[in-house]
Amino acid sequence: MKAKRDRSVRRHHPWLFSGAIQRVIGDADVGDLVAVQSSQGEFLAWGQYSPHSQIRARLVSWAEASRPSDEGFWRGLLTRAVVARLPLLRSPDTDVCRLVNAESDGVPGLIADRYGKALVLQFLTAGAEVNREALTRLLKDAVCRHVEIDTVYERSDADARSREGLPKRTGLLDGEPAPAQAVIRENGLAFEVDITTGHKTGLYLDQRENRDALRRLVRRKLRDGGRVRLLNVFSYTGGFTIYGLEAGAAEAVNVESSSGALAAGTRNISLNGLDTGSVQNRIGDAFEVLRQLRRSGDQFDVIVLDPPKFAFKQRDVQRAARGYKDINMQAFHLLKPGGHLMTFSCSGAVSDDLFQKIVFGAALDARCDAQIVGRLAQADDHPVALTFPESAYLKGLVCRASGP
Ligand code: SAH
Repeated sequence: MKAKRDRSVRRHHPWLFSGAIQRVIGDADVGDLVAVQSSQGEFLAWGQYSPHSQIRARLVSWAEASRPSDEGFWRGLLTRAVVARLPLLRSPDTDVCRLVNAESDGVPGLIADRYGKALVLQFLTAGAEVNREALTRLLKDAVCRHVEIDTVYERSDADARSREGLPKRTGLLDGEPAPAQAVIRENGLAFEVDITTGHKTGLYLDQRENRDALRRLVRRKLRDGGRVRLLNVFSYTGGFTIYGLEAGAAEAVNVESSSGALAAGTRNISLNGLDTGSVQNRIGDAFEVLRQLRRSGDQFDVIVLDPPKFAFKQRDVQRAARGYKDINMQAFHLLKPGGHLMTFSCSGAVSDDLFQKIVFGAALDARCDAQIVGRLAQADDHPVALTFPESAYLKGLVCRASGP
């Protein structure tokens, strides 16, 4: 490494950027194991080389003796990750969860999610790619000790692959073909999921705890009397709506640009024995639909805003901030006095602090006097290694508009 550029490596950050590298000694190919040395030639870490990425190596071990070249090394990490999820794996109410959260579980580039009897894997870095066969086998072994798995399916179709110079790839890795529409359970509710084509690996598992928080919020509001009218913006397959209806919300409006997702949402309502008649689907661009709702004088007791990622890089942040501010301002306009807004950003580049400032600006412009009554984050099966704060991406605020 270049002199004075090794601080983050010494602090066990898993990324080594190309700009910090003085020179590469010998040949290193895609995914090769490399030893990282200080400018003085001192051993610093073992890493996985990625010649096409700005992140030139993903570091996996900081002890020279712990060389990640044998399967025992990976077995240890995967077992640790699975064991950390045992409470979720044993839950009678939930049969979906993230099992391996890449760098934050010590396995760069590997995302592994469980959907009932299926495992869905993403290999997003050169190092994960070259170990694909071993990681698949070792993970399946670790999981099968606790739950039955029939299918292992690959969804390496995330954009991150292109930054590593890897083509997208999807398909069966092991076991039986993936069912087109499996039904999974989350916090006691049923959802259909297509692991072969659904967003991410099928569902937005990172919101599991927050969907449950929405359910508790609706219940609390109903205990205080009245009825609850819910607006779920960026609703995908209706996750928050179904939790809200189950809690007793009288009515819900979904806003979503994908007609397929809305149709799946309607099927999910039926699947849970809830009333599809109480839900209105508004297909379209949320920025526009929110304005239409405002023009028609609609008002809601609870609003969920869960937009897709607006900022992919630091340089997108300003534009993203304008987008977040706009939808939050519209939402504050649509909120009844005493109503609650649950608003999220999944852009890692937008900090908690900045997000709060954006939401504040939105409330101010909407002339809505509101308080923060809750703070939300990604579910605990999407942990954030303290050495790797970049993996904290999902943030949410629960705001209450003043009023009765
Ligand atoms: N809340 C959902 C996840 C939302 S992900 C859940 O709990 O499962 C974001 C969703 O926003 C995606 O379904 C995507 O199709 C939709 N979307 C993206 N851009 C949109 C836009 N401009 N208007 C409306 N929906 C949009």
